[in-house]
Order: sequence, then C-alpha cells, then structure tokens
Amino acid sequence: MNSVQSIVSCLDGYDPDALAVDKAREAIRACLTPVDKIERVPVREALGRVLAQEIVPAIDVPAHDNSAMDGYAVRFADLNPGSEATLREIGAAFAGRKFDGSVGAGECVRVMTGAVMPAGADTVVIQEVVRAEGGGVVVPAGQKAGQHLRRAGEDLKTGVAVLHPGQLLRPAELGLIASLGIGGVAVKRRLRVAFFATGDELATIGAPLKVGEVYDSNRYTLHGMLSRVGVEIEDLGVVRDDPAQLEAAFRKAASGADAIVTTGGVSVGEADFIRRLMAQLGEVLFWKIAMRPGRPMAFGRIGKAALFGLPGNPVAVMVTFYQFVRDALLYMSGRSGDYSLPLLKVPSAGALRKVPGRTEFQRGILARDAIGEWSVRLTGQQGAGVLRSMSEANCFIVLEHGRGRVEAGELVSVQLMEGLV
Ligand code: AMP
Ligand code: MG
Repeated sequence: MNSVQSIVSCLDGYDPDALAVDKAREAIRACLTPVDKIERVPVREALGRVLAQEIVPAIDVPAHDNSAMDGYAVRFADLNPGSEATLREIGAAFAGRKFDGSVGAGECVRVMTGAVMPAGADTVVIQEVVRAEGGGVVVPAGQKAGQHLRRAGEDLKTGVAVLHPGQLLRPAELGLIASLGIGGVAVKRRLRVAFFATGDELATIGAPLKVGEVYDSNRYTLHGMLSRVGVEIEDLGVVRDDPAQLEAAFRKAASGADAIVTTGGVSVGEADFIRRLMAQLGEVLFWKIAMRPGRPMAFGRIGKAALFGLPGNPVAVMVTFYQFVRDALLYMSGRSGDYSLPLLKVPSAGALRKVPGRTEFQRGILARDAIGEWSVRLTGQQGAGVLRSMSEANCFIVLEHGRGRVEAGELVSVQLMEGLV
C-alpha cells in the first residue's frame, strides 16, 4: 500500500493549505480501494446493495409474443386497406391461458392483454373499434400490420447482459431480476463505518446542559447521513478531548471498520495534541480546503481504515459529508458509473454575496414563483453553526471557486437534497 502522502503529492496542483474542492475529492479517491468481498443475498435483501455480478438473461422477457391490448388477434393479410373486413371468431386466449389452435384465413381469436399470440395471427385489433354483426367480427379499415403486439424479448433478451457489477440495486432492478426468475444475486459486502464526535464541550442527551456546553448533534446527523448511504454503522459515542480516550476510540474504530468518520478537533484552534495523536496513530493529512463552510478537514488512514476527520460545526459536518465522504464511501462500496450529485442551473431570486477563491455551499430553497417558474433563494442565516439552515433548505446553492457576487436573476448551480438527505 502506497503512503497517502506519496499518492496525493503526485497530483498536480495539490496544496494542502489551499485545496480546491475538486482536488480534495480527487486526492481522496486516489487513496481508496473498493471492497472486494462478495456475498449472495435473496432478491429483496439486495435493495440498496451494489451488484457484484453480470445479470445475463437465460430467457426472453416477455418469453412469447403477446397482446398489448384487449381485442382480436387477426391475420393482417385478411384485412382490407380501404374498407371493413368481417372475420369469424374461433376462440379466446387469456393471460396465462393460451389458445391451442391456429388462426386460419378469415378467422380471428379474442385476446386479452398479456395473452400469448395465437399461432397464425400477426396483428391485434383493439376491441373498441370492432363490432359484432351477424355472428362475425367486423374490423374497420386503417389497421397497421403487427400493431398492439409485445414481441418476445423486447424487454430483456436471452444472452444479452442487462445489469453489471457496480450497479446500485434499486426497486426497478429488483423487479428486473425477478422478471428473469432469478431468486438471489451476488452483491458486494456492505461497507462498515465507525464514527464518533469529539469535544470537551459536548453534552449527551439525558445529561443536563452545563454552562458552555452544547448537546452533541453531529452524531445524529452522521447517523442519518451514513444510514442513507447504505453502509453498516458503528456509533462510538462522544469522546472527550483527552489523549487516552481518543486513542482508545481510534483503535477501536480502526479494528473493525473500513472507514472512520469523526467530527471536531481538526481546526487550528484545537488543542494540538488531537492532531498530533491522529497523525501518530496512522497517516493523516490536515487540509485547509478552499470552501465554505468546512475549511479544515483531516484525511488519511488509521490501520486499514480510511479516516475522515470532519470539522466540528454542525453545518460544516453535513457539507463536507455530502461533498467528500458520500462520494468516497460510494466508491469504496464498489459502485461504478457516475454517482456524483447532479448540478442543475436555476435563476437566483436575490443577490448572493460571494468572493472568488473558494467554493461555497449556501443553503437554498428551490421553489416556484407566482407564475410557476423555478428559482432559488437563501434560507436566511448561513453560519456554519446554524443547523436550522440545513433543515429549512431543500438544496445547496453551489457557488463555484472562481465566482464572485451573484446578482438577482443570474443562473446558479443547485444540488437537490431530495433523495440525498
Ligand atoms: P471544533 O471544530 O471542534 O472547533 O468545533 C467547532 C464548533 O462546532 C464549536 O462551536 C463546537 O461547539 C461545535 N461542535 C463541535 N462538535 C459538535 C457536536 N458533536 N455537536 C454539536 N456541535 C458541535
Ligand atoms: Mg472541538
């Protein structure tokens, strides 16, 4: 395993004291390895897991040509292009109950949606346009050859791989796997993430709040964010700014987890021993990232586990989690493809303060105005400690590194929190 320092120092433009957001993401990626262990699970349990095999259909779906509508299966050659044709009804086919005979010249078969196409027929005429007359079925002019048919294999084709290793299994994929008659799949092992909050000022729920204390909220946002990412979590509680307790917590975390997430202790104002201790227990870099909120962050390795030392401020925890930790954990989980958060452009309802030279993640509310057009506005106070801003927001307004002040009506990038938080 190469050292973290040797990997990151090879990246162009790497500067730990003024690290651009994209560079930090790239540096983190370069140091991580995806899990390789695989397990088999029943289809339902595969929800939210990462597929570890190709899914290659052994059957066509649908398995037979079948009717897409309720109506009549006919031979197109029996119809008249410019006038009505009268056919003789010789039977019926239902979904799951096929017609055993074959459709001959001048004949038709009543078919329900999903019924296997009777032999000899090639076209379906919907029931709404035909009429019964003198014991016959009258079909109007204007039908198209092969209409209202679902072809065998039009959904999935025998032998053509449809899902690939690294794909996230969502409800659609569970259904797709089931449609092939497959009862279980190979998935990657779930990632294990241990986390704790550090700080002498932190009170835990249940204890009265003393002067100068705050209730620890970071472990609760982390619990929520990590759960949504789909990893196994281990909550190691609140750890005092005390060398022995911190060391024990780091060792415990590193013994079983693939990744460790901590909050607090990485800013310049913190007791130096915390940073020294982290650096002693493994290989840890301290970064100043050109972003707001969330400037200080530690990244590295303790034992085999990746370490994400997030700042202490509650909003900074959430922003650094979504901008760095989420991406890193998905990568480590073995996901393939592009899972970066989409950036959408919308007009800003008001002017936004911003100075070039850092990426800002302001908390925004994306909403429709009186005439139904979407625009984004700020949630109000944007301090790194104002967690209410995250609760009120439904998106981040991402103001790019080089950008300055934004005037009302200018387009800005937003990242939706829906489906994320
Ligand atoms: P730090 O990065 O440790 O200097 O913390 C920065 C700010 O975040 C301080 O005002 C802390 O009180 C606050 N803070 C740190 N950890 C937590 C936590 N677990 N829950 C709530 N606030 C915290
Ligand atoms: Mg602290």
